[in-house]
Amino acid sequence: MRKINEFLYAEDIDEKGNGAIFPDTEQGKELGFTSDKYSSASYLYRKDNTMTISFIETVTPGKGHFSQLLNNLKKSGYNIQVPTPSNLMREILIKKHFKPIVDESDFGSCEIWMKKKMLKETKRKEFANGVVYALQTEDNYPIEVTDTFLPYYTKDAIGRKQNCLMNNDLGSRKERWMIGVSCMSGCPVGCKFCAAGKLKKWRNLAHHEILKQFIYVLDEQKENFESAQEHKINFTRLGEPFLNLENVKVAIEALSNCFPKVHHYVSTIGIKDSDFSWIKDNITLQISLHSLKEDRRNWLIPYKNKMTIKELGQIRTKSNLKTTLNLTLVNQEDFDINVLRENFDPEYFFVKLSPINKNEISENNNLGEGIIKGINII
Ligand code: SF4
Repeated sequence: MRKINEFLYAEDIDEKGNGAIFPDTEQGKELGFTSDKYSSASYLYRKDNTMTISFIETVTPGKGHFSQLLNNLKKSGYNIQVPTPSNLMREILIKKHFKPIVDESDFGSCEIWMKKKMLKETKRKEFANGVVYALQTEDNYPIEVTDTFLPYYTKDAIGRKQNCLMNNDLGSRKERWMIGVSCMSGCPVGCKFCAAGKLKKWRNLAHHEILKQFIYVLDEQKENFESAQEHKINFTRLGEPFLNLENVKVAIEALSNCFPKVHHYVSTIGIKDSDFSWIKDNITLQISLHSLKEDRRNWLIPYKNKMTIKELGQIRTKSNLKTTLNLTLVNQEDFDINVLRENFDPEYFFVKLSPINKNEISENNNLGEGIIKGINII
């Protein structure tokens, strides 16, 4: 096979050494690309300072050869490209902070992973316990990503019956580390309290654009995500995940493969006829309820094709955790203990009360700050 490959690619090798590199060739040996590790069908492709890992097949899988090859290429100063990696390779690439881009050519689209910032930062706001980034996609669509942390004890919101801080110690990313990603730029739902309404256009984000947000945060931080006692990814920034379901599911699967102990929270208004069977194990559902009065909820969340309060109460998932009912209460009338009791069995749901995150849209709709005063982002 090596001979055939050498023959096929021989014409491409020029005097600068550009072209296909096979195991045990002079250039191959310099990079540790040798036949005791890689099959003879494997080859890299060099174009000046860029090395493409065109096809590799290790003879002893699971020994870290791919990771070592990436290290050797980096040490030798190459830009590295990996087209259509296997799932296992993708996990290693994410850990090494590579990012995917989709390359469109005459032969169709191909996912290429490389080390390059793919999202442009337009603004950031730093808090005592985190950062909010305003980023832009390659085609200039704005998105928002959050990177926050809290002390580990705040995790026990059910046992403590609240998740307030006990003192001024804010903890660190080694305790509870939460990364909140957007699944859309803008949002067609148009909630009365949400800043997404400021954006005139919206579009779904591709799965690689969701992953890039996560990688962007990791690139900015020295800490190791999976070393945090609790590390979770919240699909809670811009967009309704169930209106971009396939991309959200692919992103969740890729992240779970890379970080087996990660927990995902998917926040939805409850789109009619949604399938919740995939919400299981380390994936938990959050429902944006916001009011226990149907007409008020319809006003606050003006999306026609959504589930009623009664239908929301019938949702059952196989998550390790109860479904969260998010209640951003605008005023007292939005709360009704009888409707809550009637519809939501505490065995399957728990209620989280949150203040309104004041913004231009909520102000224009005269929502004020809501009736909940406590905040945990400082
Ligand atoms: S569904 Fe979420 S992102 Fe969309 S408008 Fe409502 S709160 Fe904002």
